Amino acid sequence: MSRIHKLDPIVVDQIAAGEVVERPASVVKELVENAIDAGATSIEVILLEGGIRRIEVRDNGIGIHRDELLLAVTSHATSKLSAPSDLEAIASLGFRGEALASIASVSRLEVISRTANSNAGASLKVDFGRVGEVRDAAAAKGTRFIIDDLFAELPARRKFLKRASTEAGHCTAWVERLALVHEGIAFRIENDNRVVFEVRADDDLTARCAAVFGANIADRMLAIDKPSDVLSCTARIGPPETARRDARRVHLFLNGRWVRDARLLRAVREGVREFVPVGHYPTLFLQLHVAPERVDVNVHPQKTEVRFRDERIVFGTVVSTLRQCLAASDWATRAVGGIGSSVAESPSFGGISGLPPTSGGGASSSGGFAGAGTASTSAGSSRDFPAPSWQRADDLRDGAAGQLQEHLAQQATDGNLPLQPDPDAGAGDFLSIANTFLFRPVPGGVEIIDQHALHERVNLEELRKEIREGQVVMQPLLVPALVDLSRIELELLLGLKDTFLKLGVDIDAFGETTLAIRGVPARLQRLHPEKLVMDLLEIATDNRAASPEKIQEEMLFSMSCRGAVMAGDHVDRAALESLLKRGANLPQDRTCAHGRPVRIMLTLEDLERAFFRR
Ligand code: ADP
Ligand code: MG
Repeated sequence: MSRIHKLDPIVVDQIAAGEVVERPASVVKELVENAIDAGATSIEVILLEGGIRRIEVRDNGIGIHRDELLLAVTSHATSKLSAPSDLEAIASLGFRGEALASIASVSRLEVISRTANSNAGASLKVDFGRVGEVRDAAAAKGTRFIIDDLFAELPARRKFLKRASTEAGHCTAWVERLALVHEGIAFRIENDNRVVFEVRADDDLTARCAAVFGANIADRMLAIDKPSDVLSCTARIGPPETARRDARRVHLFLNGRWVRDARLLRAVREGVREFVPVGHYPTLFLQLHVAPERVDVNVHPQKTEVRFRDERIVFGTVVSTLRQCLAASDWATRAVGGIGSSVAESPSFGGISGLPPTSGGGASSSGGFAGAGTASTSAGSSRDFPAPSWQRADDLRDGAAGQLQEHLAQQATDGNLPLQPDPDAGAGDFLSIANTFLFRPVPGGVEIIDQHALHERVNLEELRKEIREGQVVMQPLLVPALVDLSRIELELLLGLKDTFLKLGVDIDAFGETTLAIRGVPARLQRLHPEKLVMDLLEIATDNRAASPEKIQEEMLFSMSCRGAVMAGDHVDRAALESLLKRGANLPQDRTCAHGRPVRIMLTLEDLERAFFRR
């Protein structure tokens, strides 16, 4: 070991660069953010080999004055903060004054710039931290950065770079993110002479969403615009069927900055949980505006993590805003006519293959469950809907829908398919398949209902209503069910006794380590008391710090699910009919409590496509 000495400034910058510059995309992000801070209305990114060979960023912003070029590439030099108190309320994207110095220390950087009131431009080159001289250069108003051979002199870093196409993808992702939230600015990125992404300055948020998510999704996104002085919230949510297992389609922004915050993401999932299947993330653009002094963005060198001063309020608002808007949306409202009716409707989940709806809209509910076959209702609905060519409205049962139904019943009884025929299948106007799915012919196609999902949703809505009205009917158990627990567990549950009572669950201590369940909700007769206690315990443990309302909500979800028939359970026909009847008047009947679809529609178009008739 040698003696202690001060590090060479170039090495200092290279070490610092490790925090900011990870790959070409980080350079793109920093340079594009600088261009935004410089008031540009047009920003262009030009890559060669995914940015590994060259990254060029051009903007038409205010430019850098000739005398300040040197300072710009010096570390801790910035025009965005002056007094220490500025750190308390950061309004620009940059503020650390580190990016350019860092980039310049790990690449060959050239900056060419001209401010509005100078008639000549100037340029400066920095070669892996070795600063050149400022020279005259021809330049349009604005700034151009050219970054060549990133990490070329740092083989240890360079070897972490991926294939050019992968790096190009990361660069594009950053341009997309920044383009989503910066309306009024044109963005364009090309790689190896091919335009990969582009929006115009006058493109609005919808057009920007179309460019990022695809027009097909953007057209169907639900819009939330909730302005407020304290915390304003703008969001676009894609329809449930566009949910994905990873969060790549979730874009969260705080004050114009893309952020990656695990707790904010959790709030989002909480807000959409009834609309997005468990384990999935929605397609989402969410932008929050909070007064700058209420957040701290200075917690991470890449500024993608944030800390809120009053996070409970922020997260709470996100959850409730998403919930309210979704609950008021088409996805939540009962599909036209509801479960029990035979009125055609737009497929709630875009049909099997995500095709656009073929029918629906404008029809009024025909009321409850049409238990007595479809002929009468179809005659009624044929007035509202032009009868599809295959359907003879006067004789639906002998029409295609009836044939399909018979066909399915036939297949099921033939035993050629791994389906378990319901003894009564084909008798009424639905068919139970594999003790799981209910097939119902409806004008325009076939509706398929998941019996468990429907029952779960029915339980949830009915229980919610009872709780709201303060009249959950409790079924006292003749003999209390006893469950052995640890002292801590027992104490935890007893502490929530009142919350549970509101849900129709009556618990008591029975000795020091035994819990007695004295009553369960009458409506959920299928609930197994011991399983119920285990669920209660899990929820109480997971939500130690949560409010009683939150715990009650969790319980409600869990009980609705536990109290529902399962897929594969044989349910007799009368019970299924009654379930469909109960399903006819729900405030929402498209998804179960876990966000999975309750029903999907196979439109005639879907069928025709499947049989190559189209
Ligand atoms: P920061 O953005 O944190 O201030 P940077 O190292 O990214 O730090 O940039 C240093 C300074 O260079 C900025 O504060 C700004 O004054 C100037 N600058 C950088 N890029 C541009 C640009 N595209 N147009 C105008 N000025 C720029
Ligand atoms: Mg910057």
